[in-house]
Amino acid sequence: MARLDLHMHSTRSDGRHAPAWVIRQAAANGAELVALSDHDTLAGVEEAREAGKALGVSVVAAVEISVVDQALGELHVLGYLPSRGELTDLDQKLSEYRDERLGRARRTIELLRELGAPVAEDTVLRHADGGVIGRPHIARALVDAGHVESVQEAFDRYLHNDGPAFVQRSVLSLEESIGLIHSGGGIASLAHPTRYRETEASIESFAAAGGDGIEIYYRNDPPDAVANGERLANRLGLVATGGTDFHGIHPGEMLPATVSIPDHAASRLTDLMKDFAS
Ligand code: AMP
Ligand code: MN
Ligand code: MN
Ligand code: MN
Repeated sequence: MARLDLHMHSTRSDGRHAPAWVIRQAAANGAELVALSDHDTLAGVEEAREAGKALGVSVVAAVEISVVDQALGELHVLGYLPSRGELTDLDQKLSEYRDERLGRARRTIELLRELGAPVAEDTVLRHADGGVIGRPHIARALVDAGHVESVQEAFDRYLHNDGPAFVQRSVLSLEESIGLIHSGGGIASLAHPTRYRETEASIESFAAAGGDGIEIYYRNDPPDAVANGERLANRLGLVATGGTDFHGIHPGEMLPATVSIPDHAASRLTDLMKDFAS
């Protein structure tokens, strides 16, 4: 099994650890190729690459974008980007998203107050620490305020997509997100397909919308789910990607570069991304 992790978060979005820390952990676990894939931002990539250089880890610039499909609900798209690609359109859209997230966090805080679970905006902003603000920061503020015991309980009670404090963001369609990634010369992979309401239909729609890959090797998904993903990838001509989705905010999370990716898939990915990594 090769050590590779193409899905990890840092303090630049909703992860708990700085980009350099994440890369050091990946290196300690034997990684040679990783991607930092924060939500809506590439801001952590430079720091990650600096850290990677010293440790012999190649770092691919990546981003995780949320999209909404009418039939399938919220899906997440990973974009892997070449180092010197033309990213103007993508950058513009990501910057709009980041701006919108603050207003959305404020509306969520307002809903929580009405629900009898008030949190201070300052606490949320402190958790975001200048990074892209997201629900996990609000979840951590809910833990601090004593309304819930864990980040997961905050999602289960308040913040999940049908939860009482959920506020929808404006999001792209599948086609638009894939188009933006392609316009930057990148590769689009459907993140964590096993977490959607309808895994198979989501993968098929993603392929029909022009997507390139699916994240078959996700965390510790069971062997039958992985086998199913491999079958679908073969049928639809999609490349298999993989990662831990490391955030460092849940107890017992898999650490960077600890996901099992078979050697044949890892060498295909290494080959595919050789011009992306630095
Ligand atoms: P946002 O981008 O602000 O909508 O927040 C999405 C992030 O919240 C995801 O990337 C996960 O880190 C986390 N998340 C979403 N849904 C759940 C859930 N049901 N349980 C735990 N974490 C979740
Ligand atoms: Mn996240
Ligand atoms: Mn995701
Ligand atoms: Mn993720």
